Amino acid sequence: MQPISEPDIRASFVNCSKGEARRLAVPRELAEMPWADLDFLGWRDPGAAERAYLVAERDGGGLTGVALRATPKGTRSFTARSMCSLCLTTRTAGAVALMTARRTGESGRRGNTVGQYLCADLACSFYVRGLRAPAAGADLDESLSPAEKIARTRANLDAFLAKVMA
Ligand SMILES: [Zn+2]
Repeated sequence: MQPISEPDIRASFVNCSKGEARRLAVPRELAEMPWADLDFLGWRDPGAAERAYLVAERDGGGLTGVALRATPKGTRSFTARSMCSLCLTTRTAGAVALMTARRTGESGRRGNTVGQYLCADLACSFYVRGLRAPAAGADLDESLSPAEKIARTRANLDAFLAKVMA
């Protein structure tokens, strides 16, 4: 993705209040981000474990930021595996978290959310490029090239954003 600035990020949020978008914790080291290797910018709030954020360039829709709530770790056993719905990396429980996004508009005001399993560190871009190896677990389909995995991740991301904004 193209490099983006803190004001770009704050202005991009579609599913939280303007006040929340103004106050939320934006990564400090934006100048050092490996933008060329990112399909989206995703991060956890270092001061609030359940808060996560994702900003992506939507197909023809401009920059779109989504505020997420991570569900606290459940009581599932360690050996249970979950799959990230974006990069389709299968990982042990804890490394993949159920995250919910409030829908935009009237639907969101009525309390409707969209839930997806996502890599808890939101580093899908690095996993599909082989730049970071999952601590445990394996890819679903080793036969795909990185370019194919990137295309699939972006398609999954677009589908997720479309559901949030539906
Ligand atoms: Zn992922």
